[in-house]
Amino acid sequence: MTNNLDLDTLAVRAGTLRSQFQEHSEAMFLTSSFVFGSAAEAAARFSGAEPGNIYARFTNPSVTMFETRLAALEGAERCVAFASGMAAILATVMGLLKAGEHIVASRSIFGSTIQLFNNILGRFGVTTSLVSPTEPEAWRRAAQPNTKLFFLESPSNPLTEVSDIRAIAAIARESGAWLAVDNCFCTPILQRPLEMGADIVIHSATKYLDGQGRVLGGAVLGSKTLMEGVYTFLRTAGPTLSAFNAWVLLKGMETLPIRMAAHSRNALELATWLEAQPKVSRVLYPGLPSHPQHDLAMAQQSTGGGIVAFETVGGKEAAWTVIDQTRLMSITANLGDTRTTITHPASTTHSRMTPEQRANAGIGDGLIRIAVGLESVEDLKRDLERGLALI
Ligand SMILES: *Cc1c(COP(=O)(O)O)cnc(C)c1O
Repeated sequence: MTNNLDLDTLAVRAGTLRSQFQEHSEAMFLTSSFVFGSAAEAAARFSGAEPGNIYARFTNPSVTMFETRLAALEGAERCVAFASGMAAILATVMGLLKAGEHIVASRSIFGSTIQLFNNILGRFGVTTSLVSPTEPEAWRRAAQPNTKLFFLESPSNPLTEVSDIRAIAAIARESGAWLAVDNCFCTPILQRPLEMGADIVIHSATKYLDGQGRVLGGAVLGSKTLMEGVYTFLRTAGPTLSAFNAWVLLKGMETLPIRMAAHSRNALELATWLEAQPKVSRVLYPGLPSHPQHDLAMAQQSTGGGIVAFETVGGKEAAWTVIDQTRLMSITANLGDTRTTITHPASTTHSRMTPEQRANAGIGDGLIRIAVGLESVEDLKRDLERGLALI
């Protein structure tokens, strides 16, 4: 049913399965296992000769509905769901790489992903080189004969650096590696990396796919061939998305297109206003013409998304004042929520980096990241004005 339907329709309807009761809204299948009509049917299911559910570590109709809907939105042959975004990233590497192989990754990726690559995978003989997200040629230089995976996020967190997905995908292909894109910030509504040459898309469904800060979830998407290895890891190791979380995510995805449009609209308006504030020295938002990669961002994303970063004059003290003076915004590192969240990256999400590493990466002490929610932008401006007036 997914052929020729628009994203708005797929978000609402793709993947819906009905039980014998013909429910309109999707049922939640809270069961750990499934029964067979006969010994012969059990044997056929286990051998794979007959499709169907066996055990909820690796198949459950609620999870299948979530996977089918997300695959339709990303234009992927197959989606494999996971308990969290980090489980999805781990499964990608465990399913596709082996000891002695190498990853080239953007240095501007989620902190836990860097920890996973460096500190955990490193112990099992998979090594990683970190490179600039904005210089495709650096990826070519970092590739080795044993490089199997390129990994990036675009736009990056918190500086909203934009990677040229088409160019890096071409270099990955020439280097004999797969390109995986963590598409958490854009979601398939704003950016579809598989259409730009990426081989794998990864999601933390915890963020915009849920959209209301309720559950953890993750997903890996790509060709049937590539996803076979990822699925085998899931089936064997068990970092499974629960049926309950799948059901919550499925409902969240129905409003994903209208939420992403509203997040982007609010973020652009807030970013434009911030640029005019005298106490703000710099605003980073891909949707602003002043963004260093505005043209590239607009060539691969339909809108700028919901994440805005800005630098206050006066360093950490000033940034903390702005944050502490908010009454509406939630001071939390989470993002992708209907509620606006505000964070000081240098002392929270990026505090594991040394001051030198942060300085090299451009994450200053005056930097604030806002994940713009769906409240009135006028109220959000007033929330920031209070602190900006004090610095
Ligand atoms: C949150 C996040 C993750 C990790 O996802 P969890 O669901 O928290 O495990 C990975 N990548 C990005 C870009 C994220 O924002």
